[in-house]
Amino acid sequence: MNAPLTKSAKLGLKQRYALLTRGLDWEPSYQSKSAIYPYAEFEGIKIHDWSKWEDPFRLTMDAYWKYQAEKERKLYAVLDSFAQNNGQMGLSDVRYINAIKLFLTGVSPLEYQAHRGFAHVGRHIPGVGPRVAAQMQSLDELRHVQTQIHTLSHYNKFFDGFHEWQHMHDRVWYLSVPKSFFDDARTAGPFEYFIAIGFAFEYVLTNLLFVPFMSGAAYNGDLATVTFGFSAQSDESRHMTLGIEVIKFLLEQDPDNLPIVQKWVDKWFWRGHRVLGLVAMMMDYMLPKKIMSWREAWDIYFTEAGGSLFEDLARYGLKVPKYADVATAEADHLSHQNWSTFYQYTQAAAFHTWLPSKEEMDWLSEKYPTTFDKHYRPRYEMWAEMEKEGKRFYNNALPQLCTVCQIPMVYTEPGDPGTIAFRTSQYKGETYHCCSDGCKDIFDGEPEKYSQSWLPVHQIFQGNCGGASVEDVLKWYRMNLGADNMDQAGSPDQKLWDEWMAARRRVAG
Ligand code: FE
Ligand code: ZN
Repeated sequence: MNAPLTKSAKLGLKQRYALLTRGLDWEPSYQSKSAIYPYAEFEGIKIHDWSKWEDPFRLTMDAYWKYQAEKERKLYAVLDSFAQNNGQMGLSDVRYINAIKLFLTGVSPLEYQAHRGFAHVGRHIPGVGPRVAAQMQSLDELRHVQTQIHTLSHYNKFFDGFHEWQHMHDRVWYLSVPKSFFDDARTAGPFEYFIAIGFAFEYVLTNLLFVPFMSGAAYNGDLATVTFGFSAQSDESRHMTLGIEVIKFLLEQDPDNLPIVQKWVDKWFWRGHRVLGLVAMMMDYMLPKKIMSWREAWDIYFTEAGGSLFEDLARYGLKVPKYADVATAEADHLSHQNWSTFYQYTQAAAFHTWLPSKEEMDWLSEKYPTTFDKHYRPRYEMWAEMEKEGKRFYNNALPQLCTVCQIPMVYTEPGDPGTIAFRTSQYKGETYHCCSDGCKDIFDGEPEKYSQSWLPVHQIFQGNCGGASVEDVLKWYRMNLGADNMDQAGSPDQKLWDEWMAARRRVAG
């Protein structure tokens, strides 16, 4: 490497990148390639010529560190000024904080999981181009989780529910939904991980997480989140390019790869759709100032953008993910069914819930003309009535969980919103339960894997979660009871906020 580097001024970026990567690809003499890359073949993917890999972004390591350092400087300058100017007081409303609790406890640990996953892939993919790209993405993801922890740490000074985010990630029932998604990807082979995270999540679905969420943060005065969001977004374009390059490369290398890749695309689309139900709920219910509905976001970022993507990939024989039509139909129900679940289980969640106001319900009617008034408004009105009578409804039954997505069985049959969807599979004499055809297909594809799922409710019943009562379990989660959980009204968060606003009014006089 020494000689070419000294002349680097005369080499183009493409040549420099080629030197960085191709120089790493030597023929081993005293170990077989299969011993060096033990996970490269068991998934059935056939690669004939790694040199056909087109490096999607030709970023050398020195340029990488320079760009990233620049971004970090800007990011921390903004975060510091947000903290010093008590930026949290400029939020649209304190209820907003609950959306960020869910993001920082649910999504930030996934950034760390992505870091570890890409480090693993960077070690185990035999091609040098994707290996270097995976290594860079691994570093990006580590940076993402760090920037998010800085934001979390600021909010943690004032608000409840942030303090045990790492501990909670491994234990709390609803956080097992995003956790199991990434555990599943990281325990797959390196090619499946690439398709799961690089393509299905980063390319097809990421805009549904970041774009609405970052506009939501901006709209609600949360500069601390906008900052890390934009900083991550600039890496995201590189990640998306890698994701699309990987899928094209696998499909070009051998026709036998198509059915394997299609199965992964179907699986990871459905798993991603299930995790994004949390985002649907944040957008429709948790943002005090709303930007667009989940339905609208789905139409723009999946149906339109995804539609043209799959049109483009059709020349390789790849089809639109199975059950994309089901997911699209579910968009009219998803956020309402999720928010209703958290409202009923607010005693067991580390963020607060509330019933939508009259204005919010009118907004939901307008955004969901075929479903909200018919199926969901009456439910909220009944719960509001019960609250007024001092009989706020809590669900104290531990729900059946889907073995695959780990979400309580709250979703309804396609086309029949009055009936809970429920599927079962048999494996080695046991019955396993799934929430949908999408999850059941995934279970049936790898029953040995999913029969080992760590399902929070099953674990509670088996006595592995601190005790038999709800309170024992919540303590085992390290939840501060009466502060982290329960309704927004009456919470310490709300009290603190009301004091701030009262003080501000006095000053304004
Ligand atoms: Fe990331
Ligand atoms: Zn499921």
